[in-house]
Amino acid sequence: MPFTIAIDGPAAAGKGTISKAVAAHFGFAHLDTGLLYRAVGRRVLDGAPPVDAARSLRPEDLEADSLRTPEVARAASRVAALAGVRAALLGFQRTFARREGGAVLDGRDIGTVICPEAEAKLFVTARPEVRADRRYLELKGKGLEVTREQVIADMRERDARDAGRSQSPLRPAPDAMVLDTSGLDLGQAVVEAIRLIGPVRG
Ligand code: C5P
Repeated sequence: MPFTIAIDGPAAAGKGTISKAVAAHFGFAHLDTGLLYRAVGRRVLDGAPPVDAARSLRPEDLEADSLRTPEVARAASRVAALAGVRAALLGFQRTFARREGGAVLDGRDIGTVICPEAEAKLFVTARPEVRADRRYLELKGKGLEVTREQVIADMRERDARDAGRSQSPLRPAPDAMVLDTSGLDLGQAVVEAIRLIGPVRG
């Protein structure tokens, strides 16, 4: 039976870790939809026209390690504002959401646009300075040369673009449960997410 868990929120709020853990807990498939936009952004940085890049994405494009860089995140956020790019990625995400056996999708517009009929919706957020610190440590941990100031500035710019765009802006669905992870470590955030979704799943 299809059962969709939609997890949305801004950058570095904990969505990725929570989504993977929630999917494992319920035995559902997981799709990180940010990777779709990052893969399109990557191909655009390499010279491809955005809508063509989105229409011709291949599964192997989602596997590149190089998708997790600030440069690709910026490119992703720019291509994500284009209606043609979003339209090209819609069908794949909707089909994934309604697959047999259940699905968790995380992104910015899952509960509002991709799957407004999702059985459970979570909006994961955290204070900007907490999110910036997490992203800074994550990037440093990967050995990337970044400063805290750069990470904060990048994240502010990306959040403003994602929330301010006309196409599928980042915002909580009216029926989403909000989880603020500011005072939680990621383990506690996972426990809280499962506690919120559990009763809906039954
Ligand atoms: O979640 P992640 O940081 O990987 O997403 C990269 C960018 O992709 C976001 O900043 C956003 O612009 C875009 N995105 C989106 N809709 C989604 C997922 C990601 O617009 N469902």
